Amino acid sequence: MSETSKPGNFITQIIDKDNESGKHNGVVMTRFPPEPNGYLHIGHAKSICLNFGIAQRYNGQCNLRFDDTNPEKESVEYIESIKRDVEWLGFEWKDEPKFASDYFQALYDFAVQLIEMGKAYVCELNGEQMREYRGTLKEPGKNSPYRDRSVAENLALFTDMKNGKYKDGEVVLRAKIDMASPNMNLRDPIIYRVRHVHHHQTGDQWCVYPMYDFTHCLSDAIENITHSICTLEFQDHRPLYDWVLDTLGTVHPQQIEFARLNLNYTVTSKRKLKQLVDEKHVDGWDDPRMPTISGLRRRGYTALAIRNFCERIGVTRSDGVVDVSMLEHAIREDLDANANRAMAVLNPIKVTLTNYPEDKEEIFTVNNHPKNEDAGQRKVPFSKTLYIDAADFAEEPPRKWKRLTLEGAVRLRGGYVITCDEAIKNEAGEVVELLCRYDENTLGVNPEGYKPKGVIHWVSAQHAVDATVNLYDRLFNNDAPDANYEDKTFLDFINEESLTVLTNAKVEPSLLASEKGQGFQFEREGYFCRDLEKDGMVFNRTVTLRDSWAKIEAKGK
Ligand code: ATP
Ligand code: MG
Repeated sequence: MSETSKPGNFITQIIDKDNESGKHNGVVMTRFPPEPNGYLHIGHAKSICLNFGIAQRYNGQCNLRFDDTNPEKESVEYIESIKRDVEWLGFEWKDEPKFASDYFQALYDFAVQLIEMGKAYVCELNGEQMREYRGTLKEPGKNSPYRDRSVAENLALFTDMKNGKYKDGEVVLRAKIDMASPNMNLRDPIIYRVRHVHHHQTGDQWCVYPMYDFTHCLSDAIENITHSICTLEFQDHRPLYDWVLDTLGTVHPQQIEFARLNLNYTVTSKRKLKQLVDEKHVDGWDDPRMPTISGLRRRGYTALAIRNFCERIGVTRSDGVVDVSMLEHAIREDLDANANRAMAVLNPIKVTLTNYPEDKEEIFTVNNHPKNEDAGQRKVPFSKTLYIDAADFAEEPPRKWKRLTLEGAVRLRGGYVITCDEAIKNEAGEVVELLCRYDENTLGVNPEGYKPKGVIHWVSAQHAVDATVNLYDRLFNNDAPDANYEDKTFLDFINEESLTVLTNAKVEPSLLASEKGQGFQFEREGYFCRDLEKDGMVFNRTVTLRDSWAKIEAKGK
């Protein structure tokens, strides 16, 4: 679907009106402004789809801007991962990526301008005093004793700050607004602080760094952003942005707030995701259980599925929680339509066809996709010894059993009908091999007189390829792992069964030609993708065929 034919939302309504009134001369310029202090997650995907999608819809452009004002927490690794993720999602930013640090000189000059206007001052209150003077939501704050310094004195002190005459935290530059404002953000907020740290972009050039609020609104203005779209928590900061931009007389990007994405069963806070990585609860930022874009990609999610999901959840101004099954549905839908089928036996047991010639081999040609002929066909070899999944045989089957049992018949997918004569057991009484007969007249046709109830998947033992299969499941077993609990944290809700590694799987040989990252439906097992990173036959379960959690939840109620 092209961007313009997609349904609109309250933001496109605002932009339509702006375009009618000529407010920004019909120009639409947005930006996606991550702080490079972690990997992007599914919540960021919503913001990316929104900002880049709006630019596309209005033939405008979208900047990628790194809000890099906290060098201690940021890194080039994060910058690179963010660029990769935005591109992978299918979006193109305007020109080179931008950095707030590109504007450090301009921001410094704006700060000097505020001082010259008598609108900013250097303050020496320490952190504790600052809190005390700030007041509370119910009580107004008090003016700092340093508030009335002269312009000349402030200019000299700010120059000293910049020149490294102060230690970290000794002094700050504050905007002079209103210590009695009911909006705490307007109570003389800090706009510059001293930090003697190396910056990943500017090196050791600066030892004063601008605060986020001061930087953000001015970076938008410098880039001539027309619509500055952000999440609802910044609504209370808007009056401060307005003050900064109006006082300095810059262009004034229009801020529009929307509700952030919250997903049940999921944590989307960079700080907490970092904790999962640092404390090794998961295997890195791209662990397939992580809600990061890189984790979802490695899990087998496609960019299309994520974009469709973001489209479907819509954009509103009221907070809500989206069911993670909607995300799972989006990838199931994409893979059902677009992924080739293949046969993989996850927990193999051996089947010997007693009446099949010892050294005979047949090659069956099967469709890659049941509905899509363009997906083509592939060759699947067949021989006397096969593997089927242990779960597809039962000696004492439950009612309505449609798979293999003693004296029962099933069809092998794409092959013959077989009947089981005997189950061979080991000393522990476990079935280790099935002796079966095949019916040579049943290739592609049902036998005379009866129709086998079930179809099972299989691989030929001598042709099968060994594979490792990672069965991933939801990382948290609580629908709100991130809520405030008296005695628990999100770490207490980690699903111990979120990963089962099967090292004994047998897959059909056509999978040797698969590409890293390629998705498949393993017949009757679920959707899987070949692992993006590891060499060899390693497959990750993206999602089960059906929503098994819905069943569990229904039972629990
Ligand atoms: P987190 O809350 O996960 O730590 P953040 O807001 O600190 O994320 P930023 O790097 O500042 O991370 O985010 C970049 C952009 O992505 C911001 O415009 C922010 O509003 C948006 N964003 C972050 N989380 C979400 C979310 N859950 N839903 C929608 N947009 C989000
Ligand atoms: Mg943020």
